[in-house]
Amino acid sequence: MRTANVAGRLVLRKDDGWIDVERASGGRFAAEPQEIFERWDEFQAWAEGAEGPSVAVDESDLLSPVPSPRQILAVGLNYRDHADESGFAVPETPPVFTKFVSSVTGPYGDITLPDGSVDWEVELVAVIGRHAWQVSRDEAWEHVAGLTVGQDLSERELQLSGPVPQFSLGKSHPGFAPLGPCLVTPDEFGNRDDLELGCSVNGEEVQKGRTSQLIFSVPDLIARLSGVLPLLPGDVIFTGTPAGVGMGRTPKRFLADGDELVSHVEGIGTLRHRLVRA
Ligand code: ZN
Repeated sequence: MRTANVAGRLVLRKDDGWIDVERASGGRFAAEPQEIFERWDEFQAWAEGAEGPSVAVDESDLLSPVPSPRQILAVGLNYRDHADESGFAVPETPPVFTKFVSSVTGPYGDITLPDGSVDWEVELVAVIGRHAWQVSRDEAWEHVAGLTVGQDLSERELQLSGPVPQFSLGKSHPGFAPLGPCLVTPDEFGNRDDLELGCSVNGEEVQKGRTSQLIFSVPDLIARLSGVLPLLPGDVIFTGTPAGVGMGRTPKRFLADGDELVSHVEGIGTLRHRLVRA
């Protein structure tokens, strides 16, 4: 199953078109896309037999399929080759930070570059569909509503300034958490634990990896994180980025005014953004 957010309304993929969930359900489910995660099981059951008129979807109207999660957790150094390029040993426990919710944006459009050195990090993003508290690895996938594509945009100077790094702040400028273009349920993938992901800048491929290379897999992350705090329906987990970020290059390379950043995860879709200097 695939869902998306068209100009603030939840839509569901059916055959070769999209249907409007609020209208097709006669008001049983709200139009607001974030609310659906509270009733994910009920929604999935309804969606199987759902019918309705197709709605026209203009790419430019697509917003984040998860517009206002209560918690955004993000994981650093979760691919061996990225830990290497960052000059760190492979971690024994996942380094975790947050991206503040005001950084969430949609799958297409312009993102304003703040002062500093802005870097790309394509990531697989898992969205929680069932309250998850102290769940085991074996139960973890059952708590995932779906997967989407994310960019963990990072302003490296603020991220690494001060006596201790400021990951959360340096990665939370407006537009620094683009998500989309849709949410795909785990059952849609041939192998949900082995998806290609990558990104390009102005057509040049800069990152390419597979989620099977994650040091801490999606179920492992959910087990570890939910052991510390409850993961709430609609929460978002950025799972980490493979090698190829700008900071890990010689010479270092960062995003510049007018650059086009295109990010993809196999079986989900593509994000496309233009970076613009304010
Ligand atoms: Zn990241």
